[in-house]
Amino acid sequence: MPVRATKRGSERTPLGGDYDVVVCGASFAGLSVARELRGAGARPLRVLVVDRYEIGERQTSACAAPTEWLVNMGLAASIRQTFRDLVIHRPGKTYRWTLPWTFSTFDYPLLCELLARQGDFTFDTAKVDGITRGPVHTVHTDRGDLRAPLVVDALGWRRVLSEKPDAIQPPAARLSRGLEVHPPATGEDLELWLDPKYIVPGYSWAFPAGDEVRVGVGSFDPHLKVKEPTVRLAQDIGIETLGYQGNWIPHRIRPATGDGVFFAGDSAGHCLPTTAEGIRTAFYFGLACGRELRHVIDGRQTRAQALARYHSFSEDHRYAFDWLWRVQSIVSGINKYPAMDTTLDLMSRPRFVRWLFTHYLNIAPPSFALDGARPWAVEPWSEPADDAPLAA
Ligand SMILES: Cc1cc2nc3c(=O)[nH]c(=O)nc-3n(C[C@H](O)[C@H](O)[C@H](O)COP(=O)(O)OP(=O)(O)OC[C@H]3O[C@@H](n4cnc5c(N)ncnc54)[C@H](O)[C@@H]3O)c2cc1C
Repeated sequence: MPVRATKRGSERTPLGGDYDVVVCGASFAGLSVARELRGAGARPLRVLVVDRYEIGERQTSACAAPTEWLVNMGLAASIRQTFRDLVIHRPGKTYRWTLPWTFSTFDYPLLCELLARQGDFTFDTAKVDGITRGPVHTVHTDRGDLRAPLVVDALGWRRVLSEKPDAIQPPAARLSRGLEVHPPATGEDLELWLDPKYIVPGYSWAFPAGDEVRVGVGSFDPHLKVKEPTVRLAQDIGIETLGYQGNWIPHRIRPATGDGVFFAGDSAGHCLPTTAEGIRTAFYFGLACGRELRHVIDGRQTRAQALARYHSFSEDHRYAFDWLWRVQSIVSGINKYPAMDTTLDLMSRPRFVRWLFTHYLNIAPPSFALDGARPWAVEPWSEPADDAPLAA
């Protein structure tokens, strides 16, 4: 359960001091790292998590993730709606694919609260500005300097603690962009549009989440603006354009370590290209990072060994990220043409959909969230019997 280090608002005092671990960023990746540190070490551990906002205050995503991940992480209470089918709209045809597992939309503030409660750390709000590296790093914030030998950048796409910050700024960087509205409304289906009328290099979505629907447009090309097509899609499906939120989304994997710092989630480009699914991968790499840090604290490995192991774990997934990036480029190239319809027709066989989505899930399998999971665990694909019960 996190405790606050200092007061809020006008009572904010300077922040500083020495810690065992400083986790920068308190969203999916950062809170997953902190969760894995609970109870580590022989003496009470000094873990500080900092974010420029309160935990769960700023949602920047449509918040849909595989249900099994949410259940295995102990976050099922945040689920708002669950979907077995994925509905894909093309200009002249609609496809309904039945997945071998389910997606759920969830409540972001509640999920963050539940995840934070699984950790045992001090939390405070501060804007992270940079780092001076060393055996003990110094993290510079707008409220003072924080010192720790183990520092994690889970700050999202900006990769604030990067050795080369210029390389990742839009629009030159390898980033997609997404914008959505969250009006009060209801819906039955998880819907995607591969419709060039809204965006050619990208896709659009409508994700119902109980009493609101999250409707947006994502562009794989960072130069293209997405507000106008988002408004048009909302109008076409008859919902209000309320509650805008958006962000940049990295679509190439980046080094997961650099000069003694650990990077997890979007800061390491751990968001899957093509689908822009980055929540379960932020959980996945956050857990992996946290487990390596735990071994350092328990005296079973050095920081250098943890950096090497975590780096290699992340690199082992590069092939999947690179493949999905190729698929993203193909989608951008054929979205305007009948070739896209032919491709979707060929992909729509139920057996192929099951095979494809099982492999896709296994890039970051939900079993990894369970206690004692092996780092390389992969769930086998098996043809479910026709009457097999649905996944939760
Ligand atoms: C419109 C949109 C919709 C999306 N929908 C989905 C979806 O439905 N499913 C899915 O899987 N993925 C989705 N994604 C992608 C997903 O949101 C990201 O991949 C995911 O949020 C990455 O998690 P993270 O913890 O690495 O980073 P983030 O969630 O971006 O968290 C970074 C944290 O760092 C903090 N921070 C940033 N800079 C600083 C600083 N300088 N100092 C202090 N704190 C700072 C932020 O306040 C934030 O809390 C979507 C993205 C967008 C833009």
